[in-house]
Amino acid sequence: MNKLKNIIVKKYGGATVATPEKIKGIAKSLLRELSAGHTLVVVVSAMGKTTNSLIELAAQISARPNQREMDMLLSVGERISMSLLSMSIQDLGKQAISLTGSQAGILTNSDHENAQIIDLRPFRVVNELEKNKIIVLAGFQGVDPHTKEITTLGRGGSDTTAVAVAAGLKANQCEILKDVPSVFSADPKKIKSAKMISELTYEQMMDMTFWGAKVLHYRSVELAAVKGVNLYIGPSEGTHARQGTHARQGTHIRSYTQPREFKVIHEKMKNKMETALVLSINTIQTVFKITMTSKKIHDDYIKLKDLFKKNEIIFPQILAVDTDDSKNILYITAPEEMLSMIKKIPKTKELKIEEGISTICLTCTGVPTFETQSQISKILGDLKISPLKIQMSALSVVLFVDRTQLDKAVAGLHDLITER
Ligand code: ASP
Ligand code: MG
Repeated sequence: MNKLKNIIVKKYGGATVATPEKIKGIAKSLLRELSAGHTLVVVVSAMGKTTNSLIELAAQISARPNQREMDMLLSVGERISMSLLSMSIQDLGKQAISLTGSQAGILTNSDHENAQIIDLRPFRVVNELEKNKIIVLAGFQGVDPHTKEITTLGRGGSDTTAVAVAAGLKANQCEILKDVPSVFSADPKKIKSAKMISELTYEQMMDMTFWGAKVLHYRSVELAAVKGVNLYIGPSEGTHARQGTHARQGTHIRSYTQPREFKVIHEKMKNKMETALVLSINTIQTVFKITMTSKKIHDDYIKLKDLFKKNEIIFPQILAVDTDDSKNILYITAPEEMLSMIKKIPKTKELKIEEGISTICLTCTGVPTFETQSQISKILGDLKISPLKIQMSALSVVLFVDRTQLDKAVAGLHDLITER
Protein backbone atom coordinates (compact mmCIF):
# COMPACT_ATOMS: atom_id res chain seq x y z
CA MET A 1 0.00 0.00 0.00
CA ASN A 2 2.90 2.35 0.68
CA LYS A 3 3.77 2.14 -3.00
CA LEU A 4 0.77 4.33 -3.66
CA LYS A 5 1.50 8.03 -3.46
CA ASN A 6 -0.56 11.13 -3.62
CA ILE A 7 -3.95 9.50 -3.19
CA ILE A 8 -6.92 11.80 -3.58
CA VAL A 9 -10.45 10.66 -2.79
CA LYS A 10 -13.00 12.59 -4.81
CA LYS A 11 -16.67 12.25 -3.98
CA TYR A 12 -19.23 13.39 -6.52
CA GLY A 13 -22.70 14.19 -5.19
CA GLY A 14 -25.95 13.18 -6.88
CA ALA A 15 -26.50 16.51 -8.63
CA THR A 16 -23.03 16.43 -10.23
CA VAL A 17 -23.67 13.00 -11.82
CA ALA A 18 -27.32 13.67 -12.70
CA THR A 19 -26.95 13.27 -16.49
CA PRO A 20 -24.77 11.29 -18.93
CA GLU A 21 -23.22 14.61 -20.05
CA LYS A 22 -22.21 15.45 -16.50
CA ILE A 23 -20.72 11.99 -16.02
CA LYS A 24 -18.69 12.36 -19.22
CA GLY A 25 -17.53 15.79 -18.05
CA ILE A 26 -16.29 14.28 -14.78
CA ALA A 27 -14.43 11.55 -16.65
CA LYS A 28 -12.57 14.23 -18.62
CA SER A 29 -11.67 16.20 -15.52
CA LEU A 30 -10.36 13.03 -13.83
CA LEU A 31 -7.96 12.52 -16.70
CA ARG A 32 -6.51 15.96 -16.09
CA GLU A 33 -5.93 15.02 -12.44
CA LEU A 34 -4.32 11.80 -13.48
CA SER A 35 -1.80 13.66 -15.59
CA ALA A 36 -1.04 15.83 -12.54
CA GLY A 37 0.24 12.65 -10.90
CA HIS A 38 -2.60 11.83 -8.53
CA THR A 39 -3.76 8.36 -7.58
CA LEU A 40 -7.53 8.59 -7.82
CA VAL A 41 -10.30 6.96 -5.86
CA VAL A 42 -13.68 8.31 -6.90
CA VAL A 43 -16.79 7.83 -4.78
CA VAL A 44 -20.14 8.47 -6.42
CA SER A 45 -23.68 9.09 -5.21
CA ALA A 46 -26.71 7.95 -7.14
CA MET A 47 -27.64 10.06 -10.18
CA GLY A 48 -29.82 13.08 -9.34
CA LYS A 49 -32.93 12.10 -7.42
CA THR A 50 -32.54 8.35 -8.05
CA THR A 51 -32.60 7.40 -4.37
CA ASN A 52 -35.80 9.37 -3.80
CA SER A 53 -37.41 7.70 -6.83
CA LEU A 54 -36.47 4.27 -5.49
CA ILE A 55 -38.00 5.14 -2.12
CA GLU A 56 -41.19 6.29 -3.86
CA LEU A 57 -41.23 3.09 -5.88
CA ALA A 58 -41.06 1.02 -2.70
CA ALA A 59 -43.85 3.12 -1.17
CA GLN A 60 -46.08 2.10 -4.08
CA ILE A 61 -45.51 -1.52 -3.20
CA SER A 62 -45.57 -1.45 0.58
CA ALA A 63 -46.64 0.90 3.36
CA ARG A 64 -43.93 -0.48 5.59
CA PRO A 65 -41.14 -1.74 3.34
CA ASN A 66 -38.78 -4.22 4.93
CA GLN A 67 -35.50 -2.51 5.76
CA ARG A 68 -33.28 -5.29 4.45
CA GLU A 69 -35.08 -5.19 1.12
CA MET A 70 -34.84 -1.39 1.09
CA ASP A 71 -31.06 -1.70 1.25
CA MET A 72 -31.09 -4.14 -1.66
CA LEU A 73 -33.13 -1.58 -3.58
CA LEU A 74 -31.33 1.62 -2.59
CA SER A 75 -27.84 0.26 -3.16
CA VAL A 76 -28.76 -0.05 -6.85
CA GLY A 77 -28.67 3.74 -7.29
CA GLU A 78 -24.92 4.00 -6.75
CA ARG A 79 -24.23 0.93 -8.90
CA ILE A 80 -25.73 2.78 -11.85
CA SER A 81 -23.56 5.87 -11.50
CA MET A 82 -20.36 3.96 -10.69
CA SER A 83 -20.57 1.71 -13.73
CA LEU A 84 -21.43 4.60 -16.07
CA LEU A 85 -18.53 6.71 -14.84
CA SER A 86 -16.14 3.80 -15.14
CA MET A 87 -17.28 3.15 -18.74
CA SER A 88 -16.84 6.80 -19.55
CA ILE A 89 -13.24 6.84 -18.25
CA GLN A 90 -12.48 3.68 -20.23
CA ASP A 91 -13.86 5.32 -23.39
CA LEU A 92 -11.27 8.06 -22.94
CA GLY A 93 -8.57 5.42 -23.06
CA LYS A 94 -7.74 5.11 -19.36
CA GLN A 95 -8.16 2.16 -17.06
CA ALA A 96 -10.94 2.23 -14.51
CA ILE A 97 -12.92 -0.24 -12.47
CA SER A 98 -16.11 0.22 -10.49
CA LEU A 99 -16.55 -1.54 -7.15
CA THR A 100 -19.53 -1.94 -4.85
CA GLY A 101 -19.21 -1.19 -1.15
CA SER A 102 -18.91 -4.88 -0.43
CA GLN A 103 -16.21 -5.41 -3.07
CA ALA A 104 -14.31 -2.42 -1.68
CA GLY A 105 -14.35 -3.93 1.81
CA ILE A 106 -16.62 -1.42 3.51
CA LEU A 107 -17.68 -3.48 6.51
CA THR A 108 -20.65 -2.35 8.56
CA ASN A 109 -22.85 -3.44 11.42
CA SER A 110 -26.27 -4.88 10.64
CA ASP A 111 -28.40 -1.73 11.06
CA HIS A 112 -30.19 -1.67 7.74
CA GLU A 113 -30.76 1.79 6.24
CA ASN A 114 -28.53 3.38 8.87
CA ALA A 115 -25.51 1.09 9.16
CA GLN A 116 -22.25 2.22 10.68
CA ILE A 117 -18.87 1.39 9.24
CA ILE A 118 -17.01 -0.87 11.65
CA ASP A 119 -13.96 -1.70 9.57
CA LEU A 120 -12.36 -1.22 6.21
CA ARG A 121 -10.63 -3.97 4.22
CA PRO A 122 -9.79 -2.23 0.97
CA PHE A 123 -7.59 -5.01 -0.48
CA ARG A 124 -9.22 -4.91 -3.88
CA VAL A 125 -9.05 -1.14 -4.02
CA VAL A 126 -5.31 -1.22 -3.33
CA ASN A 127 -4.80 -4.06 -5.78
CA GLU A 128 -6.51 -2.26 -8.61
CA LEU A 129 -4.81 1.04 -7.79
CA GLU A 130 -1.48 -0.73 -8.08
CA LYS A 131 -2.50 -1.69 -11.60
CA ASN A 132 -2.84 2.04 -12.32
CA LYS A 133 -6.60 2.01 -12.50
CA ILE A 134 -8.95 4.75 -11.39
CA ILE A 135 -11.26 3.25 -8.79
CA VAL A 136 -14.90 4.21 -8.95
CA LEU A 137 -16.63 3.30 -5.71
CA ALA A 138 -20.31 3.12 -4.92
CA GLY A 139 -20.97 5.46 -2.00
CA PHE A 140 -23.53 4.91 0.73
CA GLN A 141 -23.26 1.12 0.91
CA GLY A 142 -21.42 -1.63 2.71
CA VAL A 143 -21.75 -5.20 3.83
CA ASP A 144 -22.23 -6.89 7.17
CA PRO A 145 -19.26 -9.31 7.22
CA HIS A 146 -21.08 -11.82 9.45
CA THR A 147 -24.34 -12.13 7.56
CA LYS A 148 -23.02 -10.97 4.13
CA GLU A 149 -26.07 -8.71 3.94
CA ILE A 150 -25.85 -5.49 1.95
CA THR A 151 -26.39 -2.38 4.06
CA THR A 152 -26.72 1.35 3.43
CA LEU A 153 -25.29 4.08 5.63
CA GLY A 154 -28.28 6.42 5.93
CA ARG A 155 -29.32 9.27 3.62
CA GLY A 156 -26.33 11.30 2.51
CA GLY A 157 -24.05 8.40 3.44
CA SER A 158 -21.76 8.66 0.40
CA ASP A 159 -19.88 11.41 2.21
CA THR A 160 -19.14 8.93 4.99
CA THR A 161 -17.93 6.35 2.46
CA ALA A 162 -15.54 8.92 0.99
CA VAL A 163 -14.09 9.93 4.35
CA ALA A 164 -13.76 6.32 5.52
CA VAL A 165 -11.93 5.35 2.35
CA ALA A 166 -9.69 8.42 2.57
CA ALA A 167 -8.81 7.48 6.14
CA GLY A 168 -8.24 3.83 5.27
CA LEU A 169 -5.95 4.63 2.32
CA LYS A 170 -4.22 7.51 4.12
CA ALA A 171 -5.21 9.83 1.29
CA ASN A 172 -3.76 13.33 1.08
CA GLN A 173 -7.20 14.82 0.81
CA CYS A 174 -10.87 13.93 0.65
CA GLU A 175 -12.74 16.19 -1.73
CA ILE A 176 -16.52 16.43 -1.49
CA LEU A 177 -17.56 17.86 -4.84
CA LYS A 178 -20.95 19.43 -5.31
CA ASP A 179 -23.03 21.70 -7.47
CA VAL A 180 -22.39 24.57 -5.01
CA PRO A 181 -19.06 26.42 -4.74
CA SER A 182 -18.50 26.13 -0.98
CA VAL A 183 -20.00 25.99 2.48
CA PHE A 184 -22.07 29.11 3.12
CA SER A 185 -22.98 31.16 6.18
CA ALA A 186 -26.64 30.25 5.52
CA ASP A 187 -28.64 28.51 2.82
CA PRO A 188 -27.82 30.68 -0.23
CA LYS A 189 -31.14 29.74 -1.82
CA LYS A 190 -32.97 31.47 1.04
CA ILE A 191 -30.52 34.14 2.17
CA LYS A 192 -29.22 36.20 -0.73
CA SER A 193 -26.45 37.79 1.35
CA ALA A 194 -25.09 34.40 2.50
CA LYS A 195 -21.29 34.28 2.37
CA MET A 196 -18.86 31.61 1.38
CA ILE A 197 -16.70 30.22 4.17
CA SER A 198 -13.19 29.19 3.18
CA GLU A 199 -11.98 27.51 6.34
CA LEU A 200 -13.64 25.74 9.22
CA THR A 201 -12.54 23.61 12.12
CA TYR A 202 -13.92 20.09 12.27
CA GLU A 203 -15.86 21.10 15.38
CA GLN A 204 -17.52 24.03 13.66
CA MET A 205 -18.43 21.91 10.68
CA MET A 206 -19.75 19.13 12.88
CA ASP A 207 -21.95 21.59 14.75
CA MET A 208 -23.25 23.07 11.50
CA THR A 209 -24.03 19.74 9.87
CA PHE A 210 -25.57 18.19 12.99
CA TRP A 211 -27.94 21.15 13.12
CA GLY A 212 -29.08 20.96 9.54
CA ALA A 213 -26.39 22.22 7.11
CA LYS A 214 -27.05 20.03 4.10
CA VAL A 215 -23.65 20.48 2.60
CA LEU A 216 -22.48 17.17 4.00
CA HIS A 217 -23.49 14.46 6.36
CA TYR A 218 -22.48 15.07 10.00
CA ARG A 219 -21.33 11.48 10.48
CA SER A 220 -18.72 12.03 7.77
CA VAL A 221 -17.34 15.13 9.51
CA GLU A 222 -17.13 13.25 12.78
CA LEU A 223 -15.16 10.51 11.08
CA ALA A 224 -12.88 13.05 9.38
CA ALA A 225 -12.17 14.64 12.77
CA VAL A 226 -11.44 11.32 14.46
CA LYS A 227 -9.17 10.16 11.64
CA GLY A 228 -7.64 13.56 10.82
CA VAL A 229 -8.74 13.48 7.19
CA ASN A 230 -8.21 16.74 5.29
CA LEU A 231 -11.61 17.68 3.99
CA TYR A 232 -12.32 19.97 1.09
CA ILE A 233 -15.85 20.88 0.04
CA GLY A 234 -16.03 22.57 -3.32
CA PRO A 235 -17.56 22.82 -6.77
CA SER A 236 -17.37 19.80 -9.06
CA GLU A 237 -16.28 22.02 -11.92
CA GLY A 238 -13.95 24.98 -12.22
CA THR A 239 -12.15 24.29 -8.96
CA HIS A 240 -9.56 26.89 -8.17
CA ALA A 241 -7.71 27.80 -5.03
CA ARG A 242 -9.99 30.60 -3.93
CA GLN A 243 -13.15 28.54 -3.95
CA GLY A 244 -14.40 25.87 -1.65
CA THR A 245 -14.10 25.19 2.06
CA HIS A 246 -11.31 23.42 3.90
CA ALA A 247 -11.64 21.63 7.22
CA ARG A 248 -8.52 20.18 8.67
CA GLN A 249 -6.68 19.65 11.91
CA GLY A 250 -5.17 22.78 13.38
CA THR A 251 -7.28 25.26 11.47
CA HIS A 252 -7.25 28.35 13.62
CA ILE A 253 -8.21 31.22 11.39
CA ARG A 254 -11.84 31.14 10.51
CA SER A 255 -12.23 33.33 7.52
CA TYR A 256 -14.64 34.21 4.80
CA THR A 257 -13.47 34.10 1.23
CA GLN A 258 -14.36 37.74 0.71
CA PRO A 259 -11.15 39.63 1.52
CA ARG A 260 -12.95 42.52 3.22
CA GLU A 261 -14.86 40.22 5.50
CA PHE A 262 -11.72 38.27 6.29
CA LYS A 263 -10.06 41.50 7.35
CA VAL A 264 -12.93 42.45 9.63
CA ILE A 265 -12.84 39.16 11.49
CA HIS A 266 -9.08 39.24 11.61
CA GLU A 267 -9.05 42.75 13.10
CA LYS A 268 -11.62 41.78 15.69
CA MET A 269 -9.67 38.71 16.67
CA LYS A 270 -6.30 40.44 16.78
CA ASN A 271 -6.88 42.31 20.02
CA LYS A 272 -8.76 39.51 21.65
CA MET A 273 -7.59 36.04 22.42
CA GLU A 274 -11.10 34.80 22.89
CA THR A 275 -13.88 35.81 20.63
CA ALA A 276 -17.18 34.52 19.42
CA LEU A 277 -18.57 35.81 16.20
CA VAL A 278 -21.49 34.12 14.52
CA LEU A 279 -20.11 32.14 11.61
CA SER A 280 -23.04 30.29 10.16
CA ILE A 281 -26.78 29.84 10.62
CA ASN A 282 -28.41 26.51 9.86
CA THR A 283 -31.90 25.20 10.27
CA ILE A 284 -33.82 21.99 10.69
CA GLN A 285 -37.19 22.70 9.24
CA THR A 286 -39.13 19.73 10.54
CA VAL A 287 -38.72 18.74 14.18
CA PHE A 288 -41.18 16.36 15.80
CA LYS A 289 -42.09 16.69 19.44
CA ILE A 290 -42.75 13.24 20.85
CA THR A 291 -44.40 13.14 24.25
CA MET A 292 -44.27 9.90 26.24
CA THR A 293 -45.34 9.07 29.76
CA SER A 294 -43.03 6.54 31.42
CA LYS A 295 -41.66 7.38 34.84
CA LYS A 296 -38.15 6.68 33.66
CA ILE A 297 -36.80 8.18 30.47
CA HIS A 298 -34.86 5.03 29.72
CA ASP A 299 -38.11 3.08 29.52
CA ASP A 300 -39.40 5.51 26.92
CA TYR A 301 -36.21 5.24 24.90
CA ILE A 302 -36.60 1.47 24.75
CA LYS A 303 -40.31 1.71 23.93
CA LEU A 304 -39.58 4.13 21.12
CA LYS A 305 -36.76 2.01 19.77
CA ASP A 306 -39.03 -1.05 19.66
CA LEU A 307 -41.84 0.92 18.11
CA PHE A 308 -39.63 2.23 15.33
CA LYS A 309 -38.16 -1.17 14.72
CA LYS A 310 -41.61 -2.69 14.46
CA ASN A 311 -42.53 -0.06 11.90
CA GLU A 312 -39.32 -0.52 9.85
CA ILE A 313 -38.17 3.00 10.66
CA ILE A 314 -34.57 3.92 11.51
CA PHE A 315 -33.99 5.49 14.92
CA PRO A 316 -34.16 9.27 14.43
CA GLN A 317 -31.71 11.98 15.41
CA ILE A 318 -32.54 13.18 18.94
CA LEU A 319 -32.08 16.95 19.24
CA ALA A 320 -33.23 17.66 22.80
CA VAL A 321 -35.14 16.07 25.65
CA ASP A 322 -37.34 17.61 28.35
CA THR A 323 -38.46 15.55 31.29
CA ASP A 324 -40.58 15.98 34.39
CA ASP A 325 -42.40 13.63 36.78
CA SER A 326 -45.24 12.88 34.42
CA LYS A 327 -43.72 12.94 30.94
CA ASN A 328 -40.70 12.84 28.66
CA ILE A 329 -40.57 15.03 25.58
CA LEU A 330 -38.17 14.12 22.81
CA TYR A 331 -37.42 16.53 19.99
CA ILE A 332 -36.34 14.55 16.96
CA THR A 333 -35.67 14.84 13.27
CA ALA A 334 -35.02 12.36 10.45
CA PRO A 335 -34.89 12.22 6.67
CA GLU A 336 -38.19 13.29 5.13
CA GLU A 337 -39.37 9.83 4.12
CA MET A 338 -38.78 8.61 7.69
CA LEU A 339 -40.71 11.56 9.11
CA SER A 340 -43.70 10.72 6.96
CA MET A 341 -43.56 7.13 8.21
CA ILE A 342 -43.32 8.34 11.82
CA LYS A 343 -46.40 10.49 11.21
CA LYS A 344 -48.36 7.36 10.38
CA ILE A 345 -47.60 5.64 13.71
CA PRO A 346 -50.93 5.48 15.58
CA LYS A 347 -51.05 7.89 18.51
CA THR A 348 -52.00 6.51 21.93
CA LYS A 349 -52.40 7.87 25.43
CA GLU A 350 -48.73 7.09 26.01
CA LEU A 351 -47.48 8.54 22.75
CA LYS A 352 -48.19 11.93 21.26
CA ILE A 353 -46.44 13.25 18.14
CA GLU A 354 -46.67 16.93 17.27
CA GLU A 355 -45.26 18.98 14.42
CA GLY A 356 -44.73 22.65 13.73
CA ILE A 357 -41.33 23.18 15.35
CA SER A 358 -38.04 24.10 13.66
CA THR A 359 -34.54 24.74 14.97
CA ILE A 360 -32.09 27.49 14.16
CA CYS A 361 -28.46 26.94 15.07
CA LEU A 362 -26.00 29.84 15.19
CA THR A 363 -22.54 28.32 15.04
CA CYS A 364 -19.86 30.68 16.35
CA THR A 365 -16.10 30.99 15.95
CA GLY A 366 -15.76 30.16 19.65
CA VAL A 367 -17.80 29.90 22.83
CA PRO A 368 -20.84 32.19 22.52
CA THR A 369 -20.48 35.11 24.92
CA PHE A 370 -23.20 36.95 26.76
CA GLU A 371 -22.90 39.65 24.11
CA THR A 372 -23.71 37.17 21.34
CA GLN A 373 -26.67 35.83 23.25
CA SER A 374 -28.03 39.25 23.97
CA GLN A 375 -27.68 40.32 20.32
CA ILE A 376 -29.65 37.25 19.28
CA SER A 377 -32.44 37.89 21.72
CA LYS A 378 -32.58 41.58 20.74
CA ILE A 379 -33.09 40.71 17.07
CA LEU A 380 -35.76 38.13 17.89
CA GLY A 381 -37.47 40.55 20.28
CA ASP A 382 -37.61 43.25 17.60
CA LEU A 383 -39.18 40.71 15.24
CA LYS A 384 -41.65 39.71 17.99
CA ILE A 385 -40.45 36.14 17.88
CA SER A 386 -40.16 34.26 21.13
CA PRO A 387 -38.25 31.00 20.95
CA LEU A 388 -39.87 27.96 22.53
CA LYS A 389 -36.53 26.81 23.86
CA ILE A 390 -32.91 27.96 23.78
CA GLN A 391 -30.02 25.54 24.05
CA MET A 392 -26.35 26.47 24.51
CA SER A 393 -23.32 24.49 23.58
CA ALA A 394 -19.60 25.18 23.48
CA LEU A 395 -19.84 26.48 19.93
CA SER A 396 -23.40 27.49 19.32
CA VAL A 397 -26.76 28.82 20.35
CA VAL A 398 -29.72 26.72 19.22
CA LEU A 399 -33.21 28.17 19.08
CA PHE A 400 -36.37 26.09 18.86
CA VAL A 401 -39.00 28.20 17.12
CA ASP A 402 -42.46 27.93 15.69
CA ARG A 403 -42.07 26.79 12.10
CA THR A 404 -44.11 29.67 10.74
CA GLN A 405 -41.51 32.08 12.11
CA LEU A 406 -38.45 30.25 10.84
CA ASP A 407 -37.68 32.19 7.67
CA LYS A 408 -38.26 35.57 9.25
CA ALA A 409 -36.03 34.68 12.20
CA VAL A 410 -33.18 33.42 10.01
CA ALA A 411 -33.28 36.48 7.75
CA GLY A 412 -33.11 38.75 10.81
CA LEU A 413 -30.37 36.80 12.57
CA HIS A 414 -28.19 36.65 9.46
CA ASP A 415 -27.63 40.40 9.90
CA LEU A 416 -25.24 39.37 12.68
CA ILE A 417 -23.01 38.06 9.90
CA THR A 418 -23.59 40.65 7.16
CA GLU A 419 -23.56 43.77 9.31
CA ARG A 420 -20.14 43.69 10.82
N1 ASP B 1 -27.80 8.32 -2.73
C1 ASP B 1 -27.89 8.41 -1.29
C2 ASP B 1 -28.88 9.47 -0.88
O1 ASP B 1 -29.48 10.09 -1.74
C3 ASP B 1 -26.57 8.63 -0.64
C4 ASP B 1 -25.88 9.92 -0.95
O2 ASP B 1 -26.22 10.59 -1.91
O3 ASP B 1 -24.97 10.29 -0.23
O4 ASP B 1 -29.09 9.65 0.27
MG1 MG C 1 -25.28 14.08 -0.37
